[in-house]
Amino acid sequence: MTTLATTDTPLVEILDADGAQRLEQAFGHRTVGDLLHTLPRRFRQRGQRVDRKSLVIGERVTVIGSVKRMNSSSYTPKRGKGRLERVTLVVEDGGVDFEVVFFAGAKIKYMLPVGSEAMFDGTLSEFRGKLTLKHPEFLVLTAATGQSGPLKGSGDLAALATLSAKLEAEGSESLFGRRFLPVYSSKEGVTSWEVFGAVVTALRALVPVVDPLDPALITSLGLMGLDEALRTAHLPTHEAEIEPAVYRLRFDEALALQLLLGARRRFYSRDPAPPSPVRPDGLRTAMEARLPFELTAGQKSVLEDVSLDLSRDQPMNRLLQGEVGSGKTVVALLAMLQVIDSGRQCVMLAPTEVLATQHHRSLSAMLGDLGEKGQLGAPEEATRVVLLTGSMSTAARRQALLDIVTGEAGIVIGTHALIQDSVDFFDLGMVVVDEQHRFGVRQRDRLRAKGRAGRVPHLLVMTATPIPRTIAMTVFGDLEVSELGELPGGRRPITTTVVPVGEKPKWLDRVWERIREEADDGHRAYVVCARIDGDDKSDAGDDSGVPLTAAEDLYDQLSRDELSDLRVGLMHGRLPPEEKDAAMTEFASGALDVLVSTTVIEVGVDVPEATVMVVMDAERFGVSQLHQLRGRVGRGGFEGLCLLVTNSRADSRSRTRLDDVAATTDGFVLAQLDLMQRREGDILGDAQSGALSALRILSVVDDGAVIALARQYAESILDADPRLHAHPMLAERVNSLAGSEESAYLERY
Ligand code: ADP
Ligand code: MG
Repeated sequence: MTTLATTDTPLVEILDADGAQRLEQAFGHRTVGDLLHTLPRRFRQRGQRVDRKSLVIGERVTVIGSVKRMNSSSYTPKRGKGRLERVTLVVEDGGVDFEVVFFAGAKIKYMLPVGSEAMFDGTLSEFRGKLTLKHPEFLVLTAATGQSGPLKGSGDLAALATLSAKLEAEGSESLFGRRFLPVYSSKEGVTSWEVFGAVVTALRALVPVVDPLDPALITSLGLMGLDEALRTAHLPTHEAEIEPAVYRLRFDEALALQLLLGARRRFYSRDPAPPSPVRPDGLRTAMEARLPFELTAGQKSVLEDVSLDLSRDQPMNRLLQGEVGSGKTVVALLAMLQVIDSGRQCVMLAPTEVLATQHHRSLSAMLGDLGEKGQLGAPEEATRVVLLTGSMSTAARRQALLDIVTGEAGIVIGTHALIQDSVDFFDLGMVVVDEQHRFGVRQRDRLRAKGRAGRVPHLLVMTATPIPRTIAMTVFGDLEVSELGELPGGRRPITTTVVPVGEKPKWLDRVWERIREEADDGHRAYVVCARIDGDDKSDAGDDSGVPLTAAEDLYDQLSRDELSDLRVGLMHGRLPPEEKDAAMTEFASGALDVLVSTTVIEVGVDVPEATVMVVMDAERFGVSQLHQLRGRVGRGGFEGLCLLVTNSRADSRSRTRLDDVAATTDGFVLAQLDLMQRREGDILGDAQSGALSALRILSVVDDGAVIALARQYAESILDADPRLHAHPMLAERVNSLAGSEESAYLERY
């Protein structure tokens, strides 16, 4: 009698204790469902041609084929006595020959004579130009005589053979007779074959799985049933079945994820937020009348959405994506003023102190006397803008905190770390998060908790790192998304050129010349370096062996030599805050022509007269980062120039990447490019761990279409049944995806 199992059955009940423990240790699998929802990496198809180029030395491979030749020779091992027989088999698989070597192979000669068919599993190596497997595990599939009997073999393969024999006795097909053999990721000594054995055991025990989806939905989407999908995804008989099976499982994950995000969104919008409608006599209206420019159509339309959100009695949760320089700040400012008009406070969070300081300066400048509450001659409705940084004097800091807690300060600007940990607000009405595309759910929750008396602040997250919509939908699944496409008038496109100093060292002189020409026209230039000082010479540039240019060294050199006639400044993260601030202020005011710096100037810095951005060792930077950097120039109606200086070789991957960045200014094209080169975890960030890390089949990067579809169905399910009372199985999946900490979303509203 076989034990029967459901997907909830613990693996220990169907596997031996040791096997179950190994699977848990290596993959975290506890239940049959955990195991079955981890799909094969690929299938090994018997008789299929093997592409030699796809074989990687050092990787584990499975070779299935017939023994073409055999050699044996005896030798005396270094240690030990007596003589051993080294047996080398030549096995052909899919048109490729493999040498299979056994060092103590006397028995092998008899088990695997020429003509027999067998399966070998081991680590691929190369010896004298030949693909080699050294003492792999093996399984004899058919002896040379063609007679079939109990399968003989070694290790996990032998164990699998025993299982296969059991299945055959029950009337099933032999596992090894299958055309498609699944290959699973192996980890911590748990081989693909061991996983396969566990999967087969689990599927054998599994009673038909009840489908949690409505039959109508399954039919209308043409989905495979869950039971069939689970079995087929591991043990397909035809190639054509694989994709629909995997698709079904992927859809289920996407649906559970979107149900979770939808539940979370509903949970938050349940919380009250006092409505802040636009007031005709308020600050927002006054500021709009004073703007030195006309808002772009995009800014107007985003602002309309935001205004509407703010005038409702539910908190806004909105992501504003907009190209570098698309004018997000002014949108945020007007939104904040609308909230201040209803008597509440706003906070703007920046990733760095430099950016926070700049926001303080530019918002104060835009507001003029509207931001000078308490000063002589300021209008009655005026508010106060307060900056809070770690480097402020104790007295200034105390005053700022006092202004915040009494409500005197309408707008508070600072870095995340600071505000999150140490600030109490009088009545926080809105949080603006600037340039933070990795702003996680948990961080958001902490800020929401800063509202007064259970009232949840509105939230506006702004980013210039373009994220394809379906990813935004998932990563920020509980946010509405707005986009700012066009750049404000007068913005000229930026020309980007790669400067390959490896091949054309003279071009570097031309770079400094260009800077001088621009400075002569009253413009300014940034020169960005990948590192601060040259202490660590070991860290050479990408593939060139040339050490990275250090900001301090280049600053010394340029101010002494190539640009000695210009005013050159230095800025990096290790300078004391007041020096950083001074450098930035001088560059902004024109007291400096050139700023040599590290990426501290990366995001949000706005100096309209800056026209040249030189990036040294550009191959060291990511695509998005380069795009952000060049967005620092060409802001003031002057043409912008970005020079990507690199030592990387002409045919290298990093050079191709730079060429791609130079070839397009479309942030969304670049975002795709970036995605292809970065790992998912990178994009999603640690803050998104939890639910997203629990995904086994769905790829947030690749499966945009499934995610969009699932979101649509998740919404209609939640609209009709917000707590999923009529869908207990879906509710269970959502809760297990959310993990214990967050699972309350479904119950709490
Ligand atoms: P980002 O979206 O990158 O944060 P900013 O908000 O810093 O962009 O805006 C970039 C520059 O464009 C600023 O100098 C800002 O004053 C200016 N700007 C914003 N909106 C407009 C507009 N509608 N017309 C002209 N200039 C604008
Ligand atoms: Mg900005």
